[in-house]
Amino acid sequence: MKLYQPGDTSRAICPHCGKLVSTTFAYRDVPFEDGSGVVKGILAAVCDECQNVIAIPAQSTPAIRRARDAAEISLEVSIPAPEVEILDAAAYRVDPSATTRFRKSLFAFYLQRLRHSEETAEMLRRDFEAWNAVKTEQRKRVSRGIRIPHRRLSFKISPKTDRDVQWLMETSGMNKTDTVRSVVMEIEKDLLGPNTPRELRHLQDIAAVVNA
Ligand SMILES: [Zn+2]
Repeated sequence: MKLYQPGDTSRAICPHCGKLVSTTFAYRDVPFEDGSGVVKGILAAVCDECQNVIAIPAQSTPAIRRARDAAEISLEVSIPAPEVEILDAAAYRVDPSATTRFRKSLFAFYLQRLRHSEETAEMLRRDFEAWNAVKTEQRKRVSRGIRIPHRRLSFKISPKTDRDVQWLMETSGMNKTDTVRSVVMEIEKDLLGPNTPRELRHLQDIAAVVNA
């Protein structure tokens, strides 16, 4: 990949001038293709004749993607309080100094692992139904009439994570709440089970970065 510097020149077809023109690289505010916003100050090829941005070098695309992904989407569900506690116990297992901020990383990590095949999503739904039946029965037996409250779980997620959630919902046929709860189930199985979780080291590295 060629790394351009501001002031570098090149030649390109300008769609505004309708001909081959010389261009100069400079920092410009560039709108997203879908017009949903503007990325400020990225290096772009500017037409020397009409001053319009006519090309974006490869080195600038991560900045565009980052700006787009920073547009956050709110994921909010209300789940049984013991399941929020599962999430927090799992976070503690990974890193005793983890804060509630790490909940989201755990959720996104396990969500990411699940979005591989329709078969996985189908199996997840069946596992979740069985798990939910066991949990409901357990809570009924142990609590002897004490009401189990629900707690709100609220994450700010990137459009990419939101697409993963939507994919899992559509593929598994579960609603949003059950989709989130099924990921909590996966976290419980992996991190709070009797075996050392396969991904523990990896997750500890992620926790260190999130806490940084
Ligand atoms: Zn031009």
